[in-house]
Amino acid sequence: MILEVDNIHTYYGESHALQGISLNLKEGETVCLLGRNGAGKSTTLRSIIGLSAPCTGRVSFQGRDITGQPAYRNARAGIGLVPEDRRIFPGLSVRENLEIAEYRRPGATRQWTIERIFDEYPMLGELAGQDGSTLSGGQQQMLAVARSLMSEPTLLLLDEPNEGLAPVIVKQIGALIDQLSKTTTILFTDQSVHFALKHAQRAYILEKGMIVHEASSQALINDTETQHRYLSVA
Ligand code: ATP
Repeated sequence: MILEVDNIHTYYGESHALQGISLNLKEGETVCLLGRNGAGKSTTLRSIIGLSAPCTGRVSFQGRDITGQPAYRNARAGIGLVPEDRRIFPGLSVRENLEIAEYRRPGATRQWTIERIFDEYPMLGELAGQDGSTLSGGQQQMLAVARSLMSEPTLLLLDEPNEGLAPVIVKQIGALIDQLSKTTTILFTDQSVHFALKHAQRAYILEKGMIVHEASSQALINDTETQHRYLSVA
């Protein structure tokens, strides 16, 4: 297992956001966390990377206990997070947004360089000199994912990569996930079942801070009752 999350509970003040989440990912898997607004998907990702420390339970990455370890250390250890709001730095060009993420953790292979990013995603190359904050939502999402690749993550956490994007752009994000999943383990969140089932092998469904269902994508495609009970079925 590359990631093991064992019975974590996470609070925001008095609010008990995660109430015993357990999940795991094998190396190379692409897995989706599904659930409606407020189900706890972002908090699960934040608890894994260390932005919201769980108060009990355990998170292990590559067999090492990382529970409560600060996010910067987890990033150095190889966990990348693309947050829901993308966090593109305004006032910095597309190239500069990539350059500031060019941290090489010890032992990382230099698979991703700015040149390779521009080769693979020519749209970003064409926008290299443009202020990142002036990009469209879809372009910003591509940039946010590309930026996370600069630190060569072995586990990539993507928080609602499709939020607010037009269907044609959602297709491009799907293609990007498919491509990255050939070399990286990915855990992403989504609210709607269709995208998840197309691009992930398995899914966990969250409700009120708990995992209420786990299934392969194939099984979930045919399980309309579960889809209707727990998800927004667009
Ligand atoms: P969304 O799709 O809306 O992001 P989500 O499934 O990612 O939903 P979370 O954002 O993890 O859900 O929220 C889980 C619970 O924690 C919700 O009840 C939410 O209101 C609460 N919560 C999230 N962030 C905070 C915060 N900073 N302070 C207090 N409560 C929070």
